[in-house]
Amino acid sequence: MRIDKILANMGYGSRKEVKKLLKESAVRVDGEVVKDAKQHVDPDRQEVTVYGQVVEYREYIYLLMNKPAGVISATEDDVHETVIDILEPEDAVFEPFPVGRLDKDTEGLLLLTNDGHLSHQLLSPKKHVPKTYYAHVRGRVTEEDMEAFKQGVTLDDGYETKPAELTILKPGEMSEIELVITEGKFHQVKRMFEAVGKKVIYLKRTKMGPLELDEDLELGQYRELDEEEVAMLK
Ligand code: URA
Repeated sequence: MRIDKILANMGYGSRKEVKKLLKESAVRVDGEVVKDAKQHVDPDRQEVTVYGQVVEYREYIYLLMNKPAGVISATEDDVHETVIDILEPEDAVFEPFPVGRLDKDTEGLLLLTNDGHLSHQLLSPKKHVPKTYYAHVRGRVTEEDMEAFKQGVTLDDGYETKPAELTILKPGEMSEIELVITEGKFHQVKRMFEAVGKKVIYLKRTKMGPLELDEDLELGQYRELDEEEVAMLK
């Protein structure tokens, strides 16, 4: 890969800024000063340094975010703040994107990566990756609803949902529930409750496949997945 691309990918600035670093003799490959932006380097085999600091090159980034309400699960938007807008610049340079969508008012676990293959795997309807949601629901959620969700309910567009596991955490006129679904239709959780005459008024995703939302991640905070977690996803 070209040295200017490696450095730009790793957050050392735009190609133009990287060119300046090269011109200043700040960049060395295996100890030799490199000034040519077009020089090809194998980042797995060769050591790249900038002002003596070793550049740890990697291609992919995997971030686990506790998405706050009010931001949208998109990479760019003219009007609304996106989940990418709240990333630190050194993470944004990897150009991650959200794996699937959470509604603007939904909180919780959102995976962001630039690994297109992994994203595709996790979103594939064939993989049935389970997603767990915690919700506050207006209306008394009942055992009949649990049974209906287990059988599959009909959404407003006629779609029949796959079996889903509903647990009532706190019964009442304002119910607290947990729901595990294996698909990702538009507004699915909200529409499933609409199908049984109830309204979701708060929604948070807590799990996706083997990933669980960290209790210590505040809303809007995120962290990188460790190697073990990435391996579990693949
Ligand atoms: N289901 C919904 O209704 N909204 C979400 O954000 C996620 C699942």
